[in-house]
Amino acid sequence: MANLAIAGGKPLFPENSSFQVSEWPPRDERTAERLREIYFSGDWSFNSPAEQQFEQEFAAAHDAAYGVFMANGTTTLECALQVLGVKAGDEVIVPALTWMATALAASYFGAIPVFVDIEPDTLCMDPEKLEAAITPKTRAIIPVHAYSSMADLERILAVANRHGIPVIEDCAHMHGGKWAGRGVGTWGAVGSFSFQQSKTMSSGEGGICITNDPEIANKIYLMKHIGYARNVKQGQAIKAPEGLLCHNYRATAFQAVILSEQLRTLPERLARYDESARILNEAIADVPGVRLQKHGRLATLRSYYSLHFLFDGPEFADIPKSRLTAATKAEGFEVGNVCHGPVYKHALFNLDASRGQFRIAGGSCPVCEKLTPCDIGLTHQTLYYPETAEKIGTIIRKVALNANELRKLS
Ligand SMILES: *Cc1c(COP(=O)(O)O)cnc(C)c1O
Repeated sequence: MANLAIAGGKPLFPENSSFQVSEWPPRDERTAERLREIYFSGDWSFNSPAEQQFEQEFAAAHDAAYGVFMANGTTTLECALQVLGVKAGDEVIVPALTWMATALAASYFGAIPVFVDIEPDTLCMDPEKLEAAITPKTRAIIPVHAYSSMADLERILAVANRHGIPVIEDCAHMHGGKWAGRGVGTWGAVGSFSFQQSKTMSSGEGGICITNDPEIANKIYLMKHIGYARNVKQGQAIKAPEGLLCHNYRATAFQAVILSEQLRTLPERLARYDESARILNEAIADVPGVRLQKHGRLATLRSYYSLHFLFDGPEFADIPKSRLTAATKAEGFEVGNVCHGPVYKHALFNLDASRGQFRIAGGSCPVCEKLTPCDIGLTHQTLYYPETAEKIGTIIRKVALNANELRKLS
């Protein structure tokens, strides 16, 4: 008799069971009312009061003095790199596992992304392998706080400081996170966040740089605002900032208002995700071969873009990810496929690969290549209701305990 539904056994949940997940992006009357006010105020862009307010609130929530609100979380990285003096031909170290934007931000102006392997437990940049990737051309390091984990800032900064190389934290997955009690994004020279539709705070599109350095904040502002300083009015003459080719990477007051409102409820959401993560961790704690991504050594307040299970034990060695996913679906809920895979394999980089435009430190990233095929993630929407996490936990547990049955299927 089969146990697993995919093998003909009885499913844990009947076909039309409901699994409550949070609506995304969130919407409420209060935000709608504030949007209406902005609409009639006509103050839509150009450093509007709503944008200034959000910049201050968001920076303060992460223990930073300054925030510069922008069009998206790729332009934030691009501006941060250029303001820190990175130029065409320079090398920028990024982790092998991230969204392509982290590496593309360097490529856009001719800098060369250099890919470093990840740690097996956190899935973030491996500080041990960082040192070996540094060359005389290295001008910046971008650790990514991936999914629900934080890169080891302490050890990465120790290496970076020894070489005098600035660090930009890519916090696109880590809104509200704290490392050793202090906001992510304030440990390196600049912290970059994205507010794209799927992120844990979203205004459809958007991004912000935070920093505690007034000079860096000022330069990033000039760069996103086509060279205008904060106090300059539209139409007023400006002095072009030397050596800084500026862009229009502005975002609007509408986005700022939506995000201000979401920031107020972020702590409550993070607590819910945390509770779901605890439940899911418990569900698999004694199951051989499967584990959860770790949160990071000194993570004190966790944020969640997604939560990742790694089926990397010998029990699952010859079971493809697609079969695991299909098995969860047959039990009642498909445990989704939020997983980036090695970023250097992305088509946009493969084009460049043939021309030798990027470098993989040490020639390959074996940890990233081994783990991404057995990584199955749950989105933050799924983590919003601990009752849903409870049910999903029973599904993952059942599937994981029946590896033998799964292996025999083809
Ligand atoms: C989403 C994301 C970004 C920025 O993306 P945008 O879509 O440009 O806002 C950067 N890094 C990571 C890791 C991301 O997930």
